[in-house]
Amino acid sequence: MENIKHNVNEIKSQIKTLEEELNKIQGQCDHPNVVLKYDDNSKSVLKICNICEKVIGYPTTEELKNSDYL
Ligand SMILES: [Zn+2]
Repeated sequence: MENIKHNVNEIKSQIKTLEEELNKIQGQCDHPNVVLKYDDNSKSVLKICNICEKVIGYPTTEELKNSDYL
């Protein structure tokens, strides 16, 4: 069991490092190509950068209409 605990902590630490790395990379992106994507978790349409996949925010009604979501 001690081994499991060690592995879990190791993996969580790696996830944290990778998330920080991801944030850094996404911070360098100018998000030139934003697309609308339905997100199953939040059950809503999100604006997502097509390059770095960062969630930019929620689309306006106008943007939803233009993308045939409404
Ligand atoms: Zn981006």
